[in-house]
Amino acid sequence: MSVQKITILGATGSIGRSTLDVLKAHPDKFALHAISGGSRVEPLLDIAEAFRPARVAVADERALPALIAGAKARGLTGIELSAGAEASVKFAEDAEADQVVQAIVGAAGLAPTFAAARAGKRLLLANKESVVCGGALLMRTAEEKDAKILPVDSEHSAVFQCLESATAKTRETARIVLTASGGPFRGRKDLSGITPEMAVKHPKWSMGRKISVDSATLMNKGLEVIEASWLFGVPADRIDVVVHPESIIHSMVTFDDGAVLAELGNPDMKTPIAYALSWPERIVSGVAPLDLARIGRLTFEAPDLETFPLLRIAYEALAAGGDRTIVLNGANEEAVAAFLDHEIGFTAIADTVRAALDACAQTTPASLEEIFAVDAAARAATRRYIERTRCGGR
Ligand code: NAD
Ligand code: MG
Repeated sequence: MSVQKITILGATGSIGRSTLDVLKAHPDKFALHAISGGSRVEPLLDIAEAFRPARVAVADERALPALIAGAKARGLTGIELSAGAEASVKFAEDAEADQVVQAIVGAAGLAPTFAAARAGKRLLLANKESVVCGGALLMRTAEEKDAKILPVDSEHSAVFQCLESATAKTRETARIVLTASGGPFRGRKDLSGITPEMAVKHPKWSMGRKISVDSATLMNKGLEVIEASWLFGVPADRIDVVVHPESIIHSMVTFDDGAVLAELGNPDMKTPIAYALSWPERIVSGVAPLDLARIGRLTFEAPDLETFPLLRIAYEALAAGGDRTIVLNGANEEAVAAFLDHEIGFTAIADTVRAALDACAQTTPASLEEIFAVDAAARAATRRYIERTRCGGR
């Protein structure tokens, strides 16, 4: 295999950095081609210094002077520097890149994901929000343009691996079982008084702030149910969730004959990232081998949908179809941001998402532009609800 040129969108985040760790271990296989980030320039320049990519972009246009000055100060010449949200779209469709790692957080990843699909890219997809919003249109675009979507989300990587040997006919009745760690508040009934600092401390995985809060509310699992439904073409009633706090089984598939296939490993995103990078081969990821005797026991329980209603709300949105999952996602992003800014409490996240779904009449978007419009309207409705409740006008 010749050296593959890798582009990472959202390179400075948790998934981005884990990807860089895998690339670093395989200079004979991979070279970093382009990186983008949100607004922070110094971590982008640190990566540029270590890996010397051809292109570096920052989404926040105001950060361009700092990017240029910083590159000059570090003697980084010959690197194409740019800024703006469009930069990640250009990187996603760049003909020179062999693989595009989509590690942006939130619906900000929607346009780059579609760009990569339209360009027929090999797309290593961590950005679940773009699947949740893109839905059928995204899957159709990828298929038409012969783009290969390789899931990076650990559950979906597991399902992908478990389904690899299944025929199309077998897949028609297979059931997906997504495992959930349960988050930091598993077992609690009273979720009052939870601060952002408490919510972002995950017991098993080290992740970005937004997904950590989603993990704590179980919305992350709800988004993953929707993601699995689109990626694998399986309806909501054939996707189950089981809480498995040790996070050793990353998900399972059950078949008609009673057989259950599972993928196991230590909880470290480098495993699914390495698999997506090397598929259909396997390479060393740097993750320690699994020692089951030391772990001793694996435990399971049903999710508590009373205390964590967002998982149920996500199932309902998926079953309702149309634009519901887009509204769900946009409202959740706004509510989580408000929670992280200490504007609303932890339990208000679910109330806010429910209110936004009620406030937005259901439509069926047929284009990417219409998806953007639904997302924008959902966010505006969410902000209005948050302002109203903050002013005590409920
Ligand atoms: P993070 O917050 O650590 O990183 C997000 C990255 O996106 C940062 O590099 C940030 O600068 C960048 N970014 C934000 N807006 C941008 C924009 N408009 N253009 C370009 N870059 C932008 O988040 P994360 O934990 O790495 O998660 C990234 C995605 O992967 C999310 O969709 C998340 O749900 C998914 N995911 C993460 C994990 C995990 O273990 N962290 C696991 C599975 C899936
Ligand atoms: Mg996951």
